[in-house]
Amino acid sequence: MEKARSTMTEESKNHNEETAWLNNIISVIIAVLCYSFMEWLFIVTKPSILSLENWIGKGLTLVISTIFISAGLAIITSIIFLLTKIISNHYIRFFVRNLVPAFILASLSLLLIDNFTYTLFGFGISTSQTISRVLYLLGFICLVLLWRVEISRVSGKTQKATSKLKPSLRKKLLVGLPILFLLLTLPFVKFSDVSMPSFSSEEKYPNIIIFTADGLNADHLSLYGYERDTTPFLRSIVETTFFSTNHFSNSGSTSGGVTSILTGKHPTTMRVLYPPDTLRGVDTRQHLPGILKLRGYYNAQFSIEYFVDVKRLNFTNGFDEVDGEELNEFSLPNLLNDYLPINSRLFLQEIASRLTDRLKHIFFIKTMGNPYLEITTNQKYFDDLDKVNRSLSLIAEKDEPVFIHIHWMGTHGAKFYPDHTTFSSGIDRKNQNSWDQDLYDDSILDLDTGLECLITGLDEIGELENTLVIISSDHGQQWTTLKRIPLIFIAQSGLPKSNMVSNTQSIDIAPTILDYLGIPVPEWMSGKSLLNDSHVSQPVIGVGTAHALKDSENRFLLDPNYIQPPFYQFDYVTLVDCNKSYKLNLDEFTWTHSKVQNYFSSCDSHVFLTPSDVRNLIIARLTADGFEVPSESIPLPDIN
Ligand SMILES: [Zn+2]
Repeated sequence: MEKARSTMTEESKNHNEETAWLNNIISVIIAVLCYSFMEWLFIVTKPSILSLENWIGKGLTLVISTIFISAGLAIITSIIFLLTKIISNHYIRFFVRNLVPAFILASLSLLLIDNFTYTLFGFGISTSQTISRVLYLLGFICLVLLWRVEISRVSGKTQKATSKLKPSLRKKLLVGLPILFLLLTLPFVKFSDVSMPSFSSEEKYPNIIIFTADGLNADHLSLYGYERDTTPFLRSIVETTFFSTNHFSNSGSTSGGVTSILTGKHPTTMRVLYPPDTLRGVDTRQHLPGILKLRGYYNAQFSIEYFVDVKRLNFTNGFDEVDGEELNEFSLPNLLNDYLPINSRLFLQEIASRLTDRLKHIFFIKTMGNPYLEITTNQKYFDDLDKVNRSLSLIAEKDEPVFIHIHWMGTHGAKFYPDHTTFSSGIDRKNQNSWDQDLYDDSILDLDTGLECLITGLDEIGELENTLVIISSDHGQQWTTLKRIPLIFIAQSGLPKSNMVSNTQSIDIAPTILDYLGIPVPEWMSGKSLLNDSHVSQPVIGVGTAHALKDSENRFLLDPNYIQPPFYQFDYVTLVDCNKSYKLNLDEFTWTHSKVQNYFSSCDSHVFLTPSDVRNLIIARLTADGFEVPSESIPLPDIN
């Protein structure tokens, strides 16, 4: 009798535990459904990363992402559930077990409140300072507690319902739910078929620093002959430089420019030009940082969020750290890249950063910047010199060779806030005109100072002999592909003695670096090494967009209404042939042509392309990259 009773209580205890577990998982799933649906609704009703998808694609993104988060959180909840079995106090155990769903719902409430106040009154978490940050923090804790109470209240009711389920059915559910999740996610498993050979080498490679300054025109640098001495430091080290006098970008936009520098591929090949474009498929793994990493490099990027961030641009296995955040081969974004369709991965990344940025801000872990607003209002935020100092510390601390990409923002217009007042004294910075050339020149002096810090810093830590620095820009000032931009290589040895006068382009940078290191240039890079004696001037093809708008977070992105076949996000193509430039408008198929300003060398002995050559080269480029070009609609450029 005694024995029977103890078996009875044991059984009912198991029964209760199973019911509680089931309830726990059900409440997590309901919370996730609410959360991801509300975030999805918020994102799809505004210009966003999902704008390019049709409604079926948008819906699928929601379904796949929700299954994915539910599965992940169900596993975490189960682990917490099992761990809490050791807690003997019933109330504490119950409290801990319901924290996950309470946290999800509190986060959702926080986001909804924040969206509401920011949209209507212009204040929110991102604008909160010390005291209001503390208030947000306390508010969030209250939300978690309130939701926890609410969940217990509701789950008291559902508990009754689930406890009435037949024990056999309940067991089936417990085993079946995890299996169901696994089966639901299986169709999306598509492990990458891009294999890279593993490679290790005893050879000691030099450090490589690619330094891109935003919107920097070559004809504003005294190194390139400008009458104002904007680059005294660069001039002082001219003996150790090799530079291209007529260098052009392949992209009128930042993301496209930086991506073509880091991959050696044309923006039309990768279809990366402007957010929300991102590397997809095989392109995610074919890039310079990936090749260097296989040779033992430690790779880092110091840039700005969004436009130049290699995480967002999807450089898989390319970087060990980005703006101080560590990444690794098995980091969630890298794993998700292989596991999930790209849109679901971007959606998850977007909703994760929307929440973590806010939570980090109210928990005083990391101040929430507003880089998108800062770009247009005040550049103090960019901390360009900090990028240089962090690069130096990294090189000093690592034993292995280091590859760094620095993106310098001080030269980004339309407003400039330089530290120097050499050319811009007396100009009211608060009420400055857009594209003020005096302020621009002082921002280039700032850049020159930054480069001095970098080069002298390398010397001080004994790494100058062992480092190749490449200075360039993502595009010309005011987002053009038709102005000369700088391309300067600085190294103590191994560079050609005389400078390059024939036209060069962004996609040449990666092959040149590989050539310098003695690493074979892969076929998929379409640029040419400039160290090769047989380098001949190539017609430079550039592309750009004319249509961008702001999303809900104040970030610029492509206007979905203009993204349509046959040219999608690409609005124009340019071609530079010696000092002549052509621009084809892809909406209207009209041509404009002009001379490149302040072209450095003479084109007298150059054999210029004929109008039909120009047209055919552009059509060939687009066709090779898979665009269905309506050739018959494209007239010949009228050159005279
Ligand atoms: Zn830019």
